[in-house]
This record gives sequence, C-alpha cells and structure tokens, in this order.
Amino acid sequence: MEKILMHMCCAPCSCYPTEKLRAEGFEPVGYFFNPNIHPHQEWRRRLTTAREFAEKVGIKIFVHNHYGLRQYLQKVSSLVDDSDTIQYPDGFHKRCAVCYAWRLNEAAQFAAENNFKIFTSTLFYSRHQNHELMKKIAEQAAKNFGVEFFYEDFRIGWQRGIDISLELELYRQNYCGCIFSEEERFSNDLRKARKKFFTQSKQDAVVTAD
Ligand code: SF4
Repeated sequence: MEKILMHMCCAPCSCYPTEKLRAEGFEPVGYFFNPNIHPHQEWRRRLTTAREFAEKVGIKIFVHNHYGLRQYLQKVSSLVDDSDTIQYPDGFHKRCAVCYAWRLNEAAQFAAENNFKIFTSTLFYSRHQNHELMKKIAEQAAKNFGVEFFYEDFRIGWQRGIDISLELELYRQNYCGCIFSEEERFSNDLRKARKKFFTQSKQDAVVTAD
C-alpha cells in the first residue's frame, strides 16, 4: 500500500477520506496542523479528537503542536475590516485563502521532509470551503515542495462521513475554527447578513440567467 500524508483539519472531516483512501489502496497517515482554531481549549479538544479518531480507525498520526493565534492574526490583519462581515463576491472570505495556504503548504513541506511522495487534505471533504481555490493552492504547494498533491472531491461522501463520526462517537464542532468563524456562527447579526448575501446572490443569478 502506498503511504499518503493526509492533512487532517479535524476528526469528523477525516472519517470519509480515510475510508475512501483505504478503498483506493492507500495507507493514509494523519497530520494535524490547524494553528488558528479558537479558542485554545477548542484547538486542544479538536486535537484530542483527532488522536482519538486515529486510534479508533488504526492510522498513524503526526501532530504539529504549534498554536499560532498571534501569527494568524498577523497574517490576516490587513484583510479583516468591517467589510469582512459581508462575504466577498464568490461568497468566501479573503482570510480563508491565507488559512488554506498556511495549512496546505505546511502539509506539503511536512510530506517532503518525511519521505511522503504524495499528500492530500480532509479540507476537501468540507462543503463549506472554497473548493476550487483550495485545489489551486494545494497544487501550488505541491510544486513548492516537490511532492504530489492527490486531489479527490471527498464531498460526495458527506453523509457517510457524518455516519462514521457518529458511530465512532466523535466530538463534532459546529463552526469552522478561527475566531471570525466562531463569531459568524453565533452572532445573529452576522448570520442574518450572510443569509441576505446568499439570497441576493441567488436572485442576481436568476436575473442574469434570464
Ligand atoms: S473560516 Fe475556516 S477556512 Fe476560513 S480562515 Fe477561518 S478557520 Fe480558516
């Protein structure tokens, strides 16, 4: 079986990709690197759950123990202002591109330094991310570090992933991870703004199609 480094954004998102990669003849090896999860206790909880998942399904896991709140805020400070409360034209925040690049480049580098020829990420299971942008960034990260990026649209296994996570009794978080996503998930004002944005986008799309 060929080993593949599987960047794990969290345990629930790792369920379906692990099963699928194994079915395709790979031996997935986990790599946890998500330094901007907020608050610190939540980061620890997701890390503990990632370890629990790895043990339950029998995969090896590497952990990057770096908690990078300050580094993350420095990286995105110029991108986050009041307009960030409303989505950008494609429906995603600019800060997410920085976050993808940070995690995927780190995964590619770890793969290169630890004799993995190929890497992937469980970010490609999420239905809440900018999939095409992540793909471009991962391909560039692979080039940067001389490894191969394995692309698969794991979103097709969305329900299967949920079922596995429930069977394994894993902790399932209800927001993406960073401090901004936590606010967007729980602030009524931001939730309303997001809903309005997507409703308006759909109406605009209908008008354009006409
Ligand atoms: S919302 Fe999620 S993907 Fe975007 S910056 Fe925050 S943690 Fe990263």
